[in-house]
Amino acid sequence: MMVGQHYRNRGPYTDSMERPPHGLLLVVSGPSGVGKTSIVHEVVRRFNGEFSISATTRAAGPGELDGRDYHFIDQARFQRMIDANEFLEYAQVFGRSWYGTPRAPVLAALAAGRVMVLDIDVQGADQVRARHPNMFGVFILPPSEEDLLRRLRARAREDEAAIEHRFAESTREIARAQKSGTFDSFVVNDDLARCTEKVCELLVTRLGRDAASTRH
Ligand code: 5GP
Repeated sequence: MMVGQHYRNRGPYTDSMERPPHGLLLVVSGPSGVGKTSIVHEVVRRFNGEFSISATTRAAGPGELDGRDYHFIDQARFQRMIDANEFLEYAQVFGRSWYGTPRAPVLAALAAGRVMVLDIDVQGADQVRARHPNMFGVFILPPSEEDLLRRLRARAREDEAAIEHRFAESTREIARAQKSGTFDSFVVNDDLARCTEKVCELLVTRLGRDAASTRH
């Protein structure tokens, strides 16, 4: 009997039951403008990890590159990917655009024993936790609400109404993250270098624990 079959007869299917867990799935969430992108890319660099490139129906912003920052696709193609079960998770973010994590690159990276880093919202993180109970979830918090609003304005990618909408969504997302139980750690980004260090330390601790548990 196939191992996957065996597990499927006993309970809900999860990807981690289908394949034994290798590598580490790191999910980083946090409000827009909180510094997630820089943190995530530094973690990828230091751990020789891989960044999960999401698919999105939103348009590319200035400086963003298709295939590097996101796969920018239209609604019809996004729907085909949903129908073909190609997403590990997907969600409509801010009630507007759709975002999803392609499943195949994640499973390939984990099977190769690598750290796979996802920068996704809380709805997505909850879905990943359900499928991969062993994921490591880190939520990046702004030092204060005033600071978050300041950061959103400084990015100036959007007009004031859109910024205020993002701010309201962000405060709701923080509350949801704190209630969800999906995140292992909450790290305040009062200083980007310090926050990045903290996330890397947490990851080292987790990887050490995983290595010790596979030795026993
Ligand atoms: P932005 O449009 O500013 O790049 O991203 C908006 C939000 O969508 C961010 O909170 C980001 O973490 C989230 N996001 C990006 N990719 C994905 C994804 O594949 N799935 C989900 N659920 N959220 C995503």
